[in-house]
Amino acid sequence: MYKYIFGPVASRRFGMSLGIDLSPDKKRCNFDCIYCELEPAKPIDVYENAPRIDEIFEEVKKAINEFDFDVLTVTSNGEPTLYPYLDELMDKLKTLNKKLLILSNSSTIYKKDIQETLKKFDIVKLSLDSVDEKTFKKIDRPSKTISLQNIINGMIEFRKVYKGELVIEILVVKGINDKEDEFKKLNEVLTSINPDRVDISTIDRPPAYKVEGVSIERLFELAENIKNQNIFIPTREKIDYKIENLTKEELLNTLKKRPFSDSDVQNILDEHTERIFNDLMKENLLEEVWVGGIKFYKAYV
Ligand code: SF4
Repeated sequence: MYKYIFGPVASRRFGMSLGIDLSPDKKRCNFDCIYCELEPAKPIDVYENAPRIDEIFEEVKKAINEFDFDVLTVTSNGEPTLYPYLDELMDKLKTLNKKLLILSNSSTIYKKDIQETLKKFDIVKLSLDSVDEKTFKKIDRPSKTISLQNIINGMIEFRKVYKGELVIEILVVKGINDKEDEFKKLNEVLTSINPDRVDISTIDRPPAYKVEGVSIERLFELAENIKNQNIFIPTREKIDYKIENLTKEELLNTLKKRPFSDSDVQNILDEHTERIFNDLMKENLLEEVWVGGIKFYKAYV
């Protein structure tokens, strides 16, 4: 039985993931998001009674010989960058020669020491649910010490020094951050950050508070406000949102501005547009780009 290891789980966003939970006994987070799948809890700033690095690392060494997976994911019942020995743990994990991913809520990204630690990961996923201070506080319910502007500035600085794959995740909650205006403002900030991928998702597990997600179709509508990014919207099946009857030129232009993920190609193109897409592939007018385990198709510019 493992205490710190879970999975592997088939993640739609990052492939087969073996998880390392840095806070298995209880929630330790500096946010208390309304959509959190853990119990509500008062945000904390300091991780107390942290487990020893060796204890975690011994489990990881054992688990990687037992399981097949694509990525080793550092996460937590809370915020993993609060774990005080993350940097030392990371140095040990690097010796295993596995692809390393961290899922962070972004709260500490403005700190130089945290940036140095996160630079050691192959993929960094940071959350950014809103760029409006009031909405941010409503949805993520952060500790009083956290400022949204620090987070945004920290993301911009981090992108400049980070050579790995930076994924920004936006989680949409009905009635809170599901308006066009919100996404227009997010678009401006995302342009300044320049991530490798933007994931847009909604609630799909029972949340901590009484809130609801939006439909997948609504996520695609909101995504139209985000320009020139590799956008990934996890979908399991064909949905009602459709890209229809595009000509070759129209499809090429669209793919220059908004590369399609593999899942987009399977789920949102109508038959006609899918045929055009396949023709473009045969003519070698599209290139395939992998970002954080997701394949995108973009037009050569
Ligand atoms: S950051 Fe993650 S763990 Fe923390 S409250 Fe939000 S959803 Fe829950």
